[in-house]
Amino acid sequence: MAQFRYELLHKDMKTKARLGIVHTPHGDIETPAFVPVGTQGSVKSLSPDELKELGVDVFFVNTYHMYLRPGMDVIGKFGGLHKFIGWDGPLMTDSGGFQVFSLARQKYAMPLGSQKNLDPSSVSFTTDHNLSVHEKVKLDKISLLPAANPQLVKITDEGVEFRSHWDGTKHMFTPELSMDLQWQLGADMHIAFDDCPPYPVTYAQAKKSMERTHRWAKESLEAHQKFYATQHLRGVKIFTSEVNPNVYQALYGSIQGSTFEDLRKESAKFICSLNFDGIAIGGVAVGESKAEMINVLDWVTPLLLPDKPRHLLGVGEIDDIFALVERGMDTFDCVQPTRLARMGRLLVRRNNPISQLSNDPIKRYELDINKKEFAQDAKPIDPACTCYTCQYFSRAYLRHLFRVRELLVYRLATIHNLHFVQQLMREIRHAITQGTLLELKNQWLYNR
Ligand SMILES: [Zn+2]
Repeated sequence: MAQFRYELLHKDMKTKARLGIVHTPHGDIETPAFVPVGTQGSVKSLSPDELKELGVDVFFVNTYHMYLRPGMDVIGKFGGLHKFIGWDGPLMTDSGGFQVFSLARQKYAMPLGSQKNLDPSSVSFTTDHNLSVHEKVKLDKISLLPAANPQLVKITDEGVEFRSHWDGTKHMFTPELSMDLQWQLGADMHIAFDDCPPYPVTYAQAKKSMERTHRWAKESLEAHQKFYATQHLRGVKIFTSEVNPNVYQALYGSIQGSTFEDLRKESAKFICSLNFDGIAIGGVAVGESKAEMINVLDWVTPLLLPDKPRHLLGVGEIDDIFALVERGMDTFDCVQPTRLARMGRLLVRRNNPISQLSNDPIKRYELDINKKEFAQDAKPIDPACTCYTCQYFSRAYLRHLFRVRELLVYRLATIHNLHFVQQLMREIRHAITQGTLLELKNQWLYNR
């Protein structure tokens, strides 16, 4: 049987960082690994071949989007996501819950008159499930509205009723349906259906949400095991099974509990007590500060089981990456590098001799190629970078392409930003083997 398994290769002596491999039926993932996001079934602007050339082992696809468009009937005809999108490596899907809790209710919470002016493409662009914390805060100011319009997203103990952000049609996600959809998509790693509370919430709200998450975790696991055991349920074919009846799709349980220590610990213990293949930490990057996110990790990670892979949902800025790796996270997905690329915000090292770096601590690894000072700059984005874009193209040319919105530039910028993060992850993995992770962190974050 094609197995799913985490293999621990090396533990860092000074931190909780660990080097390993997540073995999946579609290939291995060297960890710690950054997982790019392909919201709609594509890492925007890049082909699967380009992703492989960049060293990307795995990427993340959002179940909610696939379910609404193109729809499961279309994906079913292709025998699952892998064939539909032309990617034969590992894939990860989420439960669909986060988008239901954020995206769907956000749009339909808006006053009716403002909806018709919304460009649907801008909706998917700006509401990927894992914006950076500071961007999410902005988003949350908008999404505070759902509370005033609760009928548009109705949460019960059975599941969540919502309206499509595309056409307003009514849908209901339950733990069983989420598992059903993920089995049909056929990714190698699934996430259990959970209740994703916004930030901030009261203790009572967070507790209720956590308890619901725990009930749904059990229901997700039962449905998952049933799907695996019977291969068919309610007449739904498990498409992957037609290709290989023994392909195993792993399920990660999701830890919730907002920013409350006792709830997070209780949730970690509970989720780890169930027979999940891996553990995800959810409910972060929803508007809390970086310090609060790190607190959550500090409370939770000592309780995680050493033999199971851990995934953090929706975090991946440069300083976050060090914080996660140090605390023993194996994988983490984030739209940040690819999203920044499409805005012309190109990643560079702080210790690079580039005078134009921002003093804003959040933007300190970014060079904004749209700035006028690059208009005649013949240098590559980052002289130390070995990516395709930096080998052949100048800042001046890239700036020109951004100004005239030539499609090529989205690809070139995405190649650079993903190469940058992949290179960082390679350096991190190497540093773990050498016992020099803290030195690497100091060099990257503090120039010392
Ligand atoms: Zn480059």
